[in-house]
Amino acid sequence: MYNVPADFINEQKVWDVLNAHKTADSYKIREILAKAAEMKGLDMEDVAALTNISDPVLLGELFDTANQVKETIYGKRLVLFAPLYISNLCSNECLYCAFRATNKDIVRNALTQEQIAKEVEVLINHGHKRILMVAGESYPNQGFQYVLDSIKTIYEVKSEHGEIRRVNVNIAPLSTEEFVELKKANIGTYQIFQETYHRETYKKVHLGGKKRDYNWRAWSLHRAMEAGIDDLGIGVLFGLFDYRFEILAMMQHIRELEKQFGVGPHTISVPRLEPATGSDLAAHPPFPVSDIDFRKIVAILRLAVPYTGIIMSTRETAKMRRETFALGVSQISAGSRTNPGGYEHEEDEDDPSGQFSLGDHRPLDEVIQDVAKMGYIPSFCTACYRLGRTGQDFMDLAKPGDIKLHCAPNGLSSFKEYLQNYATPETTEIGNRLIRETIAGMDGLAKQRAEKLVKRVEAGRDDVYC
Ligand code: SAM
Ligand code: SF4
Repeated sequence: MYNVPADFINEQKVWDVLNAHKTADSYKIREILAKAAEMKGLDMEDVAALTNISDPVLLGELFDTANQVKETIYGKRLVLFAPLYISNLCSNECLYCAFRATNKDIVRNALTQEQIAKEVEVLINHGHKRILMVAGESYPNQGFQYVLDSIKTIYEVKSEHGEIRRVNVNIAPLSTEEFVELKKANIGTYQIFQETYHRETYKKVHLGGKKRDYNWRAWSLHRAMEAGIDDLGIGVLFGLFDYRFEILAMMQHIRELEKQFGVGPHTISVPRLEPATGSDLAAHPPFPVSDIDFRKIVAILRLAVPYTGIIMSTRETAKMRRETFALGVSQISAGSRTNPGGYEHEEDEDDPSGQFSLGDHRPLDEVIQDVAKMGYIPSFCTACYRLGRTGQDFMDLAKPGDIKLHCAPNGLSSFKEYLQNYATPETTEIGNRLIRETIAGMDGLAKQRAEKLVKRVEAGRDDVYC
């Protein structure tokens, strides 16, 4: 069924809408922002008009509205995770990626299960609870079983103060049968980026391997949904093509999933093309996205799909990350390495076998201290997924804003757990003050729950949530 063209991505329609909304006046833009403030999302026409904002005053209003929506829905929480690269073997030829099959400038490595366990131990000892497992599209002799074994290994590692409580995965598209197996392995989010929705560009930058097939990739989230995975991550690799086109096409993809399955993606990732060993394309992005446009992309997505998480990785610099949190980012990676084995062998920080260059090299504790100083609550919470609040269930809870009754207390208790078990004294002091101030500013049931959960952690209990 999924060998047919992915016609829900209608390029002509995208161009038509973009062209029809090239010159929205300030009255129209303000009307769209007022609608966005109601947090019911935006349609393609609205999004097209917002992408064309260039007036600094209107841009400021766009950013303010995005901040308002972000704070109303997510409060000051920022969920933290670390990517875990288990293998850089790959049979594809994506011109922007260091892992592409013919690149001779990197050392190939697929971690053994023992090596994966060691990496996980390091991450747990840093304080991480969530991992995004990443691999190239070629597995050692065990084939796809390698992926399943690796997930099992990650969940099995126990260290003094903890374990990984949620494994999200970013691996190549699977068949429906394989997705069923992936679900059984107890994954959190299955994440896959179309890279570019523009077919001609897609063809130009994917020169070999299974990934050449645009349709196989575009239908992958349908197959995952059919296999019962309702927690999905979507994304675009910004820099390959015109970001305005990409946002609108991604909206088509999101609306299609909502139409077919009643629920859209749980997260959107916004990677920007970064330099990668042996890649001319990555060094010279054909459609570079400026910092201001990047912030605009985040703000527009926050308004277009207010209840969908936005993920920003360590591809971005610390400064850029600081400037973008307020616009709608809800999840960030921290203390990341993109070379398999990079956590155990930290001394190889600049190992060219990484997938791309990192913009933010700081260790987890430094990132946590920084975001806490900005008033954000670093959250390691995994409650929704473990209580089965995913897909439609999550959306039902999220939409009326009830999620705050869970997320705010859970975020605080998971942060407290981090402070007690892993933080440096300075971070602990800053963090404890922030927790006290945050609880003081809460009221009602959320406050009661937060006080109760934080007290339990203080009394020595780990992993408490509601
Ligand atoms: N191999 C699988 C795939 O391609 O879907 C999954 C892992 S791949 C390593 C994860 C993502 O990294 C890709 O989807 C792509 O968007 C991103 N990526 C690749 N090269 C990059 C670069 N030079 N800069 C930023 N992101 C990059
Ligand atoms: Fe392989 Fe994924 Fe890199 Fe493409 S992006 S070369 S599929 S690892």
